[in-house]
Order: sequence, then structure tokens, then C-alpha cells
Amino acid sequence: MDMTNQFQEYARLLIEVGLNVQKGQDLVIACPVECAWFARLCAAAAYDVGCREVVMNWRDDALNRMKYLRAADEVFDATPAWQAEFLNGYARKGAAYLSVSASDPENLKGVDPDRLVRQQRAGSAALADFHRLQMNNGFPWCVASIPIPSWAVKAFPGCGEAEAMEKLWGAIFEAVRVTGDGQAVSRWQEHVDTLQKRVDTLNSLNLERLHYTNSLGTDLTIRLPEGHVWSGGDGAAATGQRFVANIPTEEIFTAPLRDGVDGVVYASLPLVHDGNIIKGIRFTFRDGRIVEAQADEGEEQLKAAISLDEGAARLGEVALVPYDSPISNQRLLYYNTLFDENASCHLAFGQAYAECIRGGEKMSKEELLSAGLNDSITHVDFMVGTADLSITGYTRDGREVPIFVNGNFAL
Ligand code: ZN
Ligand code: ZN
Repeated sequence: MDMTNQFQEYARLLIEVGLNVQKGQDLVIACPVECAWFARLCAAAAYDVGCREVVMNWRDDALNRMKYLRAADEVFDATPAWQAEFLNGYARKGAAYLSVSASDPENLKGVDPDRLVRQQRAGSAALADFHRLQMNNGFPWCVASIPIPSWAVKAFPGCGEAEAMEKLWGAIFEAVRVTGDGQAVSRWQEHVDTLQKRVDTLNSLNLERLHYTNSLGTDLTIRLPEGHVWSGGDGAAATGQRFVANIPTEEIFTAPLRDGVDGVVYASLPLVHDGNIIKGIRFTFRDGRIVEAQADEGEEQLKAAISLDEGAARLGEVALVPYDSPISNQRLLYYNTLFDENASCHLAFGQAYAECIRGGEKMSKEELLSAGLNDSITHVDFMVGTADLSITGYTRDGREVPIFVNGNFAL
């Protein structure tokens, strides 16, 4: 099957809607070497709209795994200065940033978790500007995916490589609304408007807290900071440039009060984190902090992930996705958070987004903290939505409002 039209339509979608690349703007593309052909399509689409220069940041699963297994131990305590200057520099000048996320979900299985933790700590210190500006929408950024064989065969076990690749492409095109008719850009403008309506409804409620329950055993109360803002669809960079940070996106999200989470939550899907699959996650929270973390598989990796810093064991995001939504209805476990989080209500431990509090993008780190938003070097989404999830909202003026009933929006 010739999919040339779909590939081009997809590349255009990422450049024109995902990043909305402006005339004279630089574009950094982070991309696996296996996907170089697709990076070229994106670069061409960017030059078509007047991009000044496309700069590549290549990744490779095989070399990354080799490094974690074979490089000298002190390597994991530092990030080279040139690498930091590269990412921080482009972030400071407001370059657009496209990340093509495609990885073997178990690429780092068997790697010493201590190396992963040390590398992440070193990276976050060296790339502080890049991360801060990303979380504050200081530059337009977009995460998207294309299949690679090692990932496709995990999402479609039992299929041969070629068949798995074709099926994963089909699923992704459906999820990102690319059909080959050249209309994906306008379909997305409509989609973003639909999400915005739901955002407006939630913001008008002025909620004080949410209460989650389902038959998995979840019984969780999440308080929301005063002045919290629900967001979804597109966002605006510091310059006013609209962009869509994730393609696909189906979620409406805000920030929880960092010390206002209590109870128990069970994850409803496995989590792929740092090249490892973590299954059967459950967390117990007290005053916002995870006081107990368990998993049926990958518990060691989970515990390492929430111990990165003080904020790693607190929530930074609450996101609502109907159980009956386009990606969820595919009933496919992608083993890639970009898709799995858009198939399910999710939470994230770690850093909150500054846009989730009124005026947040102009606040300092300390101001965000005192407004109740969590601060961390990490941000990891995990899925909690089920067909029987109910979420009840309580407004600041004392009303009880059903937000989710049987896994879907009740608003
Ligand atoms: Zn989210
Ligand atoms: Zn998130």
C-alpha cells in the first residue's frame, strides 16, 4: 500500500499544528536514526513554511542501551557541556522543538536503575533552562511518534515484523486523524475547539477537590489549588505562538494541590518508563506524598522513579480522558505513554505545568510552589481510567458535581 500521502499529511500536521512553525524560526528535531526518512519529511514541511534552519538531535536505542551497559561509571554523573548548551541555547531563543518518540519499550531492561537515576539527575541539572522553559511553554514543543519494528512487535505480539509495522501505522494514523485526504490540519483545528469547550466548562465550576473511585480499588481524593486552570488542546508559547504539545491529545488537565492528595490509586494500564515496563502499580498517598508504592512487575524501577527528588513522590498533573474516546476505543495497549495516556484518565507524579495556575507562566519556581504546584526534575504519567471510574467534583461553594460516571464525562 502506498502511504506517501499520509506520511506527508502527518509531517505537515506536526509542523503546522503541532508546532505552528513561524517564518524565520529555528526547528530542533529529536529523532531516532531509524526514522531519519520521516525527519526529512518534517524538515521539508518546516522549510515550506519559512523555517530558518532545521537542526537534528539524533537518538538511537541500540547505542543508548550499549552506553548504559558498557560506558564508564562516571559517565552517568555528568552531561557534556556542549549537549547542555545545544538544548538550553535553542530553548532560550524560542526555537520550535519536535520530539519523535519511538523506542523499544524494554530497551533498558536489565540496566542498573542507579545509572538511570544518576543520569536523569545530572541531565536535569545541566538542562535546567531547557526543562523549565518547556514546562512554562517558553518555546513551542511537540511530541509525536512513528512506528519502529522493536516497538511494533510489542504492541502487536504474534504478528511478524512487517505486519506489526503496518498495523501500528494504521493505529497511529487513526489516532492522529490522518487519512491521506490532506485535511488533517483542519480536522485538528476542529478537535482543538471541541477540547476547549470542555476546558471552559470545567474552569467555570471552580472545583475544590475531586474524588476518584472504581472497582480496581481506587479511592482517592485530589484537592486542587485555588486559581487552578484546566487546559487542553493547544497552548500558547511566550510569544503567543499557538502549539499542540502532544499529537495525539485527547486530555483535559490541570495541576493538583501538591500536599492535597490522599487515599489509594490503582493504575489501569502498564507503564513504560525509561526503557522498562512496570505493571500493576498502586500508590497510597498521605498529605500529597506517596507513602507506599507497589508494582507486580518493575517495582524497583518504580521506586527509583519516585525517589529522584522530593517532588517525584507527589502529583503534578490530573488529566481527564473519556473511556469512550477514539484512542481508547482502539483497545490497543501501545506501550508508549503518548498514546496510552490519551486512552485513559491519568495522573502524573513530578513536575506540574505552570499554565495550570492563573498567571503561572510568569511566576518564579518559588511562587509556583507557594501557589501549591509541585516541583520536580521528573514528570511521569500513569493511567488510572477504567470503564467504571467515577469522579465526583466538589466546588468551592459546596456543590457536588458528577464529573465522570462509568468512565465518561458526565458534564
Ligand atoms: Zn497528561
Ligand atoms: Zn503528563
